[in-house]
Amino acid sequence: MATDRSELTSYEFRQLRARTLAESDVCIVCGHGASDAVDHVIPVSKGGARRDPDNLAPIHGVAGCPVCLRKCNNEKGDRPLADVVQLRTSVDWFAGP
Ligand SMILES: [Zn+2]
Ligand SMILES: [Zn+2]
Repeated sequence: MATDRSELTSYEFRQLRARTLAESDVCIVCGHGASDAVDHVIPVSKGGARRDPDNLAPIHGVAGCPVCLRKCNNEKGDRPLADVVQLRTSVDWFAGP
């Protein structure tokens, strides 16, 4: 889903991202701090509000989480947060052998 990329890199979105990260840097996927990106809780492609601060939440971006080393934004992808969290809690895909 790269159709909205120009908007996601816009000045307006950077402002929203800065504001979101200033309020909290606790990642919505793994629950650790030091998030360096924000993501839409409900993807825009699924009807989420693109510019609503309430629909934006901190997440670990390309650098990944310094604690658990996950790349949470990659894991989440274009799915609604509820799907990701449900997936993670019902089946632990990341558990070692
Ligand atoms: Zn994370
Ligand atoms: Zn983490």
